[in-house]
Amino acid sequence: AHVEQAEFVKSSVRTEDCPSDGSPEFALVGRSNVGKSSLLNSLVRRKKLALTSKKPGKTQCINHFRINDNWYLVDLPGYGFAAAPRELRTDWNQFTKDYFLNRSTLVSVFLLVDASIPAKQIDLEYASWLGQNQIPMTLIFTKCDKRKKKKNGGRRPEENVSDFQELIRGFFQTTPPYIMTSSVTHQGRDEILLHIAQLRNY
Ligand code: GDP
Repeated sequence: AHVEQAEFVKSSVRTEDCPSDGSPEFALVGRSNVGKSSLLNSLVRRKKLALTSKKPGKTQCINHFRINDNWYLVDLPGYGFAAAPRELRTDWNQFTKDYFLNRSTLVSVFLLVDASIPAKQIDLEYASWLGQNQIPMTLIFTKCDKRKKKKNGGRRPEENVSDFQELIRGFFQTTPPYIMTSSVTHQGRDEILLHIAQLRNY
């Protein structure tokens, strides 16, 4: 599995404005700073593809990237950005929730979780909401190259990963698949692309 071609297609503000060609899509979502842009760039082997979504005004959009002229990677707004006013935060939630619930070509939500720190409440809440609404989810653990540090809870990435899975176990009928990644070592890159290929062939 390889990305031969990747191009930014469009930013949409509403689910109805998203591309309508029916290609399957996979949405990346996670807390601000989780490593979403880095992962996207690692996946497509580019340095700057994801930057569009970081431009002011585009961060609150649904950003579609067409891959191999066949399927989409979708960059969604990051959540849990502490500096955002509460009102705006709720807005982002409504916005992505509508997309999750109504986008019929969405195959799986890739929830990015930082493996270098212990589980955050907001990530657990997000996973819980996806589980309750039976939205298919794949857990993508980021920053798995990082060594354990006392100030980060003193646990190894592997330990944070198994803790997180234990904490969300009750939210899902079947255990969500998970992939451990690093944008530094490119760990998990092939595994993600293989996972996408398998999901697309169902
Ligand atoms: P975003 O806000 O989710 O798009 O996060 P970024 O991709 O901008 O990354 C946030 C910070 O985490 C940056 O300082 C990155 O260099 C760092 N980072 C991202 N991915 C990794 C990773 O896999 N390993 C390590 N060690 N750092 C990472």
